Amino acid sequence: MALSASSSFLRGSTTSHDLKGFRSVRLLDKCLVPSVPGDSYLRTFLVKPVCAELKRSDSVVPLAATMVAPEVEDRIETEDYEKLAKEMGHASPLEIMDRALEKFGNDIAIAFSGAEDVALIEYAKLTSRPFRVFSLDTGRLNPETYQFFDTVEKHYGINIEYMLPDAVEVQALVRSKGLFSFYEDGHQECCRVRKVRPLRRALKGLRAWITGQRKDQSPGTRAEIPVVQVDPSFEGMDGGVGSLVKWNPVANVEGRDIWNFLQAMNVPVNSLHLQGYISIGCEPCTRPVLPGQHEREGRWWWEDAKAKECGLHKGNIRQEEVAQLNGNGNESAMDNDIFNSQNLVTLSRAGIENLAGLKNRREPWLVVLYAPWCRFCQAMEGSYVELAEKLAGSEVKVGKFRADGEQKAYAQQELQLGSFPTILLFPKHSASAVKYPSEKRDVDSLMAFVNALR
Ligand code: SF4
Repeated sequence: MALSASSSFLRGSTTSHDLKGFRSVRLLDKCLVPSVPGDSYLRTFLVKPVCAELKRSDSVVPLAATMVAPEVEDRIETEDYEKLAKEMGHASPLEIMDRALEKFGNDIAIAFSGAEDVALIEYAKLTSRPFRVFSLDTGRLNPETYQFFDTVEKHYGINIEYMLPDAVEVQALVRSKGLFSFYEDGHQECCRVRKVRPLRRALKGLRAWITGQRKDQSPGTRAEIPVVQVDPSFEGMDGGVGSLVKWNPVANVEGRDIWNFLQAMNVPVNSLHLQGYISIGCEPCTRPVLPGQHEREGRWWWEDAKAKECGLHKGNIRQEEVAQLNGNGNESAMDNDIFNSQNLVTLSRAGIENLAGLKNRREPWLVVLYAPWCRFCQAMEGSYVELAEKLAGSEVKVGKFRADGEQKAYAQQELQLGSFPTILLFPKHSASAVKYPSEKRDVDSLMAFVNALR
């Protein structure tokens, strides 16, 4: 149903009434002229993406900041995107795409992963507006995906603007941790280097981006995606919170409808789909799924299903679950913390030094030493916050101390930090802290520890 406008278009019944306010209807009709050889005609007359005019040797990254954008509206920052999302909640992907391209001109680009989000490129082509496409080449994609990029470029007559990771960062990662560290300590670090930072660089040259996120892709993290929103995680070229707009034209479309659309439009698809892959990412982190399995089960299958975002869409994860992007927290003002609760005391370095130095405390303290990017810390957040709620009003104080980055050495030397999370109880009448010895971090186990020692 969400594809109603484009479906009727496919049936040949699209009228100006169907797409009220949609300026490209007449041109769209030309897309289906059967006697015209599709590729060459489209490349010449319909699709004139900005990036198609680039030479391969051109630098594309600074381009976004320097090219003229004649159709961009002047007062983008005054737009109420929540209101717009509601207004466009039932619009077709084609209408949403058209609105996005019309509004942001050359300052917007489609993020293309090499999977079924090729539908976005097809929709963009159907608007007959110029459009840009970028993709993150992590260096770990399947050969089939690289082939597919080439096919898409030729099919649409575009040059995809590839964003590559920083070579020094990749080198440091693989030299220190090997090529498959994500199987050992989670995918966030590798994704941060190979995907998130290149994405951040790309988005800094834009004022808006277009994603292929759908609500049905990940029930845990994507259930509430609006068709347009102020990006909750990344900055655009103007800098600061709110400087980037994120369009999700297929948010309300179901996967099978995307496939029907691709088939009907004869759009090329990644050959991995024929091998059972649905969601496609990097080769070591993606696998085919069985019939009946959810597509996200084919991604980072060794990790907790709730945390299956690579960081590109971390705003989908609720605030208290976000901890994936910024490592030691020095990269961005939009860094997100965890263990956020009014019942928890955030201890500074001076605060925990004072606490640790007290010989006779007036009340016992339970403190978690954590790193917000650590998935084990993330996993225990719910139980720790619940514990803090239960202990609110009792004599036991519950706190947290962020012990990564420059605090790590101190925490290792003075606070028994081994790995994250480390939980310490500072008893009432003892100078020494007691380290929680168990891997069980449910509320009852933690409460038993507190009650035994307080
Ligand atoms: Fe690294 Fe896997 Fe993330 Fe790709 S998906 S960047 S290989 S962790």
